[in-house]
Amino acid sequence: MTEPLQRALDRIRPDVRVAHAYIVQPSTGLLKLDAMENPYRLPPELQQALGERLGAVALNRYPAERTAELARALARHAGVGDAVGVTLGNGSDELIGLLTLAVARPGAKVLAPLPGFVMYEALARQQRLDFVGVPLRASDFQLDEAAMLAAIREHQPALVYLAYPNNPTGTLWDAAVIERIAQAAPGLVVMDEAYQPFASADSLALMARQPNVLVMRTMSKFGLAGVRIGYLLGAAELVEQVEKLRPPYNISVLNAEAALFALEHAGVYAAQAAELRRQRERLLAALQAMPGIAPWPSQGNMILARVQDAAATFAALKARGVLIKNVSAMHPLLANCLRITVGTPEENTLLLQALQACLN
Ligand code: PMP
Repeated sequence: MTEPLQRALDRIRPDVRVAHAYIVQPSTGLLKLDAMENPYRLPPELQQALGERLGAVALNRYPAERTAELARALARHAGVGDAVGVTLGNGSDELIGLLTLAVARPGAKVLAPLPGFVMYEALARQQRLDFVGVPLRASDFQLDEAAMLAAIREHQPALVYLAYPNNPTGTLWDAAVIERIAQAAPGLVVMDEAYQPFASADSLALMARQPNVLVMRTMSKFGLAGVRIGYLLGAAELVEQVEKLRPPYNISVLNAEAALFALEHAGVYAAQAAELRRQRERLLAALQAMPGIAPWPSQGNMILARVQDAAATFAALKARGVLIKNVSAMHPLLANCLRITVGTPEENTLLLQALQACLN
């Protein structure tokens, strides 16, 4: 290595030097059931109409009005009133980064149950905040209320994340427990509702009662993972603070236009989500009946299941052309656990056939 390059590298924070970039599993040629994507594309006529809309977008100007329109359209889509604040992120990943930045000062802490979505901890560490992970109950992956309340009392976290439903367990937390956590938390409580299209409950009423509660959603699981639109709803005074940290042009004009188009056709996506919920129940029943695998019920578009040897089953499935996610290494509670994204009826049939062959 040349000396100027070494000198430059020496300026990079040591914790960044030893960190790993987020790994996306290669999926070419595989049945992709690893990332909770919606397997459906738009019907061809709508895809064509979208192409025409995108073709007419002026790319020479920075994003402005259409992004603001999208924020309002998303708030309407969620059914919240005009008094509720809303801001957009380039995916909810970016919003998690902005929320973390908003509370980042020496000694501030971020708290979330584990196993949970990895970005809460990763982005807290990027901002040099302490992350407090509170284990879920091993039996049913519900929140351990006593442990959560004790950790909140001890650590006084500036920010608490509750993914509702949770990734990777698919759990919806007990409503009374969340309410008590929101009341006990000294700072912000973010209900991460990425999987809301597949769930039987949401936190908007809790947000209305508890002004420290924000609701974060994304268009990714709705069917636009490639478009990267996340949104944050909450008390205008709080959302305004996050808005100050948002890079001014973080949402591309093409993404904003595609998202507005999708909202105009929200019924198409709602029908896809309904089919995926039916497929989730079908998959759950089939996995419950299959020897050698033990699934947990889920309110998301994924199912977590334990097998004898997750690494072997993962590899055998991959050899048969099916890509899922081996989450065993994420947390001790997930030993030998696999996470399977719900696909189309045909994809789920292929998955079940492959799994049956692998587990025999
Ligand atoms: N929250 C949860 C709980 C998730 O599982 C994910 C992605 N898998 C996200 C947020 C990030 O979503 P986005 O695509 O909007 O960045």
